[in-house]
Amino acid sequence: MADRLGAAARQLAAALGLDAREARLEARVLAAFAWEVAPAWLLAHDTDAVPAVQAAAFDALLSRRLAGEPVAYLTGRREFFGRPFLVTPDVLIPRPETELLVELALTRIAPGQAAALLDLGTGSGCIAITLAHERPNARVTAVDRSAAALAVARRNATLLDADVEFLTSDWFAALAGRRFDCIVGNPPYVAAADPHLARGDVRFEPVSALAAGADGLADLRHLVAAARGHLVPGGTLLLEHGYDQAPAVRALLDTHGYADIQTWPDLAGLPRVSGGRMSE
Ligand code: GLN
Repeated sequence: MADRLGAAARQLAAALGLDAREARLEARVLAAFAWEVAPAWLLAHDTDAVPAVQAAAFDALLSRRLAGEPVAYLTGRREFFGRPFLVTPDVLIPRPETELLVELALTRIAPGQAAALLDLGTGSGCIAITLAHERPNARVTAVDRSAAALAVARRNATLLDADVEFLTSDWFAALAGRRFDCIVGNPPYVAAADPHLARGDVRFEPVSALAAGADGLADLRHLVAAARGHLVPGGTLLLEHGYDQAPAVRALLDTHGYADIQTWPDLAGLPRVSGGRMSE
């Protein structure tokens, strides 16, 4: 088994440009999934031979991964904020940098507060469901215009036992007259011609969740403008954006009269979330 996993790791490193550690980890994750065992079991059975049926299941998965399919789509799951989420190619794969958006929202809502929260473009539902768990007294609403994405989000809410109101809505379209204490969103923000869209995992992700016009700001521009009409006085808007978009997003927030405009860095030190408050 160790030989098989070692060979797979070398193939993964060569095909995907992974470093040796990442490649070994991926080989183990794929083997554990193919064989329906815990990764720790693999370590304990290092010297076992791999039965033919299991070898075939692993090879099938490995060849898809070698062709670039993201691990999360192959296994159908990804952790976010310590909870497991189902993911399909209908939704963006939850990313660690998006945990910053959740953490910031949590600083705005006291633990027992009966606040109204909105997640724009919920995808897998990872942000909304995490907020619902971390702030059980809050009423969490989540919108997406993709019915396929909402189906995934609803399954995640059921599996994780989270109380979230899901609505099919193109941004605020279905939210006429509704106001929230905190609005968060990880909208598409990559420029349509960005070469990054042709590399790695993103090639397999829904382009509607990634690309936003020639400069990547089309949706951020709309959301900053439209959120004003859906925040209570003193309410907060927090938006994830690209590493180089903070000045543009702060300028938009300023143009639209938000107060306390700030940008926060993600764990990699990149300016990743900007936000502001509606004046009281
Ligand atoms: N951070 C993602 C990427 O670089 C983009 C996510 C998004 O557009 N919301 O692939």
